[in-house]
Amino acid sequence: MGVAGAGKSVQGKMLAKKIGSKWISTGELLRRELSGKRREEMIAGRLLADDEIIEVIEKFFRIQGDQNYILDGFPRTIPQANWLLEQLKAGRIKIDGVVHLKAPKEVVKERLLQRGRPDDNEAAIELRFSEYEKHTLPILDCFKKNSLAVYEIDAQQGVDTVHSEILQKAVRA
Ligand code: AMP
Repeated sequence: MGVAGAGKSVQGKMLAKKIGSKWISTGELLRRELSGKRREEMIAGRLLADDEIIEVIEKFFRIQGDQNYILDGFPRTIPQANWLLEQLKAGRIKIDGVVHLKAPKEVVKERLLQRGRPDDNEAAIELRFSEYEKHTLPILDCFKKNSLAVYEIDAQQGVDTVHSEILQKAVRA
């Protein structure tokens, strides 16, 4: 987990490679699949409907089958987190832990403006920040209440330092 620009994808890919997991990003899947009005919503920085995202994830799991995954950008809302926790309680999945990449808005905003994806403009960045605070951050409490390990990482540090810290805290835990 992490606000836009915290480095979820960079770190998710590095971690997946290191521990031999499959990296899956809902943002990446949506950018590949969506067109029309829903693509516009995504580019505006708005979170997409829970049902739709859960369908995308279910389909992905079905096709890929049993293996280890690094989930990047999912879950992002309480209903999505509840769906994942239901899978856990039903014994369909195991969750090793949650990595939370933390960084102040001013720092990540600079990173995003330099990256230049279609949703990396001032207005979309602000919307993504507010969506994160309103819908995504509350998930952390929900995870903690369900006794999942949440590893807090300072994502302002350099890429390699963040990677080592994730390995130290989350993988060797
Ligand atoms: P990302 O690549 O993770 O930055 O995601 C890009 C965009 O895809 C987000 O700003 C949302 O519009 C959409 N998106 C990705 N994952 C989700 C999710 N789990 N729930 C809702 N919308 C999502």
